Amino acid sequence: MDKYDVIIVGAGPAGIFSALELLEKAPELKILIVEKGKDIDKRQCPMDTQGVPCISCPECDLVSGWGGAGAFSDGKLNLSPEIGGFLSRYVDIKTLQSLIDYVDSIYVKYGAPDKLYGGDEKEISRIKDIAAKNDLTFVPSKIRHIGTDRCRDVLKRMREAVNGKVSAIFETDVQHIIVEKKKAVGIKLKDGQEIFSDYVILAPGRASAKWLETESRRLKLTLLKNPVDIGVRVEVPAPVLEPLTSITYEPKLIFYSKKFDDKVRTFCVNPYGEVVKEHIKDIWTVNGHSYAERKTNNTNFAILVSTFFTEPFDEPISYGTYIARLANFLGGSVIVQRLGDLIKGRRSTHERISKGIVEPTLKDATPGDLSFVLPYRYLSDIMEMLEALDKIAPGINSRHTLLYGVEVKFYSMQIKLTDGLETEIKNLFAIGDGAGVSRGLIQASASGVIAAREIAKRALSAK
Ligand SMILES: Cc1cc2nc3c(=O)[nH]c(=O)nc-3n(C[C@H](O)[C@H](O)[C@H](O)COP(=O)(O)OP(=O)(O)OC[C@H]3O[C@@H](n4cnc5c(N)ncnc54)[C@H](O)[C@@H]3O)c2cc1C
Repeated sequence: MDKYDVIIVGAGPAGIFSALELLEKAPELKILIVEKGKDIDKRQCPMDTQGVPCISCPECDLVSGWGGAGAFSDGKLNLSPEIGGFLSRYVDIKTLQSLIDYVDSIYVKYGAPDKLYGGDEKEISRIKDIAAKNDLTFVPSKIRHIGTDRCRDVLKRMREAVNGKVSAIFETDVQHIIVEKKKAVGIKLKDGQEIFSDYVILAPGRASAKWLETESRRLKLTLLKNPVDIGVRVEVPAPVLEPLTSITYEPKLIFYSKKFDDKVRTFCVNPYGEVVKEHIKDIWTVNGHSYAERKTNNTNFAILVSTFFTEPFDEPISYGTYIARLANFLGGSVIVQRLGDLIKGRRSTHERISKGIVEPTLKDATPGDLSFVLPYRYLSDIMEMLEALDKIAPGINSRHTLLYGVEVKFYSMQIKLTDGLETEIKNLFAIGDGAGVSRGLIQASASGVIAAREIAKRALSAK
């Protein structure tokens, strides 16, 4: 049986960047990536290729495989340390910014476009002022937009770069981490095969956050609380947000609701984009894309409410799953409702939606009533946020605005980690969205670099 220096579990951006950085810093190390999804060329969602509705593949090609959830993502690279994760808990802001710039330069090297949004300081400070006058905090960020259609090419080039230098096993689940004397020594696959290594990096992403949580509990790792983010995806005519999106591409706005004092924020803005469904395990949630070449007439974004649960409740992932399941239970999958219908206390129907001025880009969402799904607290927070946003982008709080539910972000569990992202088990590292340290491509990738540098340093000094 082969033994490796490093095994990486998961080939999303976090896992890929740890492999690229290990090759850069310690090319002599023997590295294995194990990925439960397919290699990049084999990833094909039947909804895209055959135009059929989702057939619930055992392993979803949209979120699993080389590139992870990032492969078909919108590819918006957010270059601000305040956005997209919690890495500032482990490194100071200056170091984080230089890590972000480094990771960004690698995306550009592999084909991300040169153009950066959000660089016009005068316009940015104008938006900041309008936001402040309307109870909102605007978080400026420079953004590079790869686009869903180009993401695959960038990831393909990264795959080619490691091909032949890093071993990779696809379509194979890692079931357990093997630990001996409080030190990680390898992994056990679903079929029972054991593979040994000096270091293990866990990068299983959001869709396997539950697996990582279960495995962490089994290994008695300390789990820290993160908020659970629940909300809706909002779809409006693109001109409504154009004054903001033309300047910053992704306007990040934060609001504290008056009634509950909850943190409510805009997330993942897709100018001229499409609303999409996301299949995670056995539930449907909603998300959004925008393509570099293909444009719609609408812009979509999420409004998310962050909630920290207090003792004794410590299962935010299960809570989010439960709410999403309720929407699926009532609507078959994702529910869509016109804001005007929600305010009037009635469900939306196909007929009512067809009377509206916003044509849904997600065709198979079921018209329904989100008030049967979302707890009052979330609905109230979302409505307050829409009112606040309307002051800086008039038209958002229109009766025609479409709300899709529910959007849930499953990155709520965090493992206790050192500054090098090592767990309490020696030589076991946890990175990316699944470990709760990131929420986006850039910080997921940067977390891979942090772990790789720590391992390279130690491995080289041991040789
Ligand atoms: C529709 C969509 C749009 C998005 N748009 C953006 C965007 O524009 N900008 C942005 O910054 N972020 C975006 N994101 C988020 C971004 O894709 C994630 O933050 C990022 O992919 C996280 O990287 P990761 O490596 O931590 O996890 P993932 O990308 O989820 O990768 C984890 C990988 O691990 C594999 N895996 C899991 N468990 C196991 C196991 N037990 N054994 C073997 N393999 C396993 C999975 O199959 C997966 O391939 C989007 C996400 C989605 C779904």
